[in-house]
Amino acid sequence: MSIECVVGVLIEHDQGAAKPVSFEVLSAARKLADQVSGKVIALYFSNLASLEAEDFIQQGADEVHFLINPNLQKYTHENYAFALLRQHKKHSFDYFLLSATNNGKELSAILSAQLGVGVATDCISLFVSEEGDVKAVRPVFSGKAYSTVRFTGNKPHILSLRPNVFRDSPFSNQGEIFEEKIHLPEFSQRAQSIVKQVGSQLDITEARVVVSGGLGVQGPENFKLLEELASLLGGAVGASRPVVDNGWRDYSNQVGQTGRTVSPDLYFACGISGAVQHLAGMSSSRCIVAINSDPNAAIFSVADYGIVGDAAKVIPALIRAFKKTLSS
Ligand SMILES: Cc1cc2nc3c(=O)[nH]c(=O)nc-3n(C[C@H](O)[C@H](O)[C@H](O)COP(=O)(O)OP(=O)(O)OC[C@H]3O[C@@H](n4cnc5c(N)ncnc54)[C@H](O)[C@@H]3O)c2cc1C
Repeated sequence: MSIECVVGVLIEHDQGAAKPVSFEVLSAARKLADQVSGKVIALYFSNLASLEAEDFIQQGADEVHFLINPNLQKYTHENYAFALLRQHKKHSFDYFLLSATNNGKELSAILSAQLGVGVATDCISLFVSEEGDVKAVRPVFSGKAYSTVRFTGNKPHILSLRPNVFRDSPFSNQGEIFEEKIHLPEFSQRAQSIVKQVGSQLDITEARVVVSGGLGVQGPENFKLLEELASLLGGAVGASRPVVDNGWRDYSNQVGQTGRTVSPDLYFACGISGAVQHLAGMSSSRCIVAINSDPNAAIFSVADYGIVGDAAKVIPALIRAFKKTLSS
């Protein structure tokens, strides 16, 4: 097959392991490349090559490039943007895919501005139209509508993909692995590292289970219950805006229009009324479980499962039931 197109992917990693969302981006890139006779080049920036190279190939990469420099071990936008621009000069990407994480969104904006090319952020679907145009679907107006965008003009066309949306099993693929030490200029020393400020270990935008609490949780001390449920299910804790405004939880936990957008497999809304601004950040979750003492709460209109009751009683009952099921 003659290669007509190069699709680049940035593999994000944390503490030496690729983030699950990067495997999603790889499989989306593979599907895109197959439709446009392209090859997928995965870029991994770090101080060391990763043992996961074969997994990246299995997930769709034709080439995995480890770009090695001690200052790339942790993300800083100066270093990563510089290295990415260099890689674009080398490989002439037609499409460049990143995850719509904080870092991915920041980098996609920087690349778009520096290269003078278009960017579609937070995409939830990618397809090739009958006319052969690559199109991306992204939510707009706080998730109330979807916009389908087509790229024109200079390349690369840059896309960031929403986590937890592009899941695919590994492909049977073959590929090559490259390793290269790269030089970074002096400016790279300005930012040494970015410190994460998150309430729980997992980032809520990447978690597959999110247990969120609203004012109906009644106080910051009761969030211990939500933390217990989240940790039991390998998830993260989220919150409504008033909870964050009250200082019960950190802003990094806030879900909604002025917070973060999540698309987990399972979203628990505990004591959350379901205002449109909150729904804007979680309505694309695959399964929504609402716990609310008011049977008429708006959250029940988007919930797959609704439990009418006091969150302080329902959550411990859920914890007991999950513990029992998980132990058997
Ligand atoms: C411009 C703008 C942007 C905004 N951005 C966001 C945003 O990003 N995210 C966000 O969340 N909000 C946002 N808001 C605020 C939003 O409009 C709502 O005010 C907010 O989501 C309500 O939070 P809540 O559900 O925790 O509280 P409430 O609306 O007060 O709801 C509390 C719920 O708890 C239930 N309850 C009470 N006691 C119990 C109990 N014991 N057990 C179970 N349930 C109980 C009640 O029945 C009620 O439904 C924004 C608003 C504006 C104007």
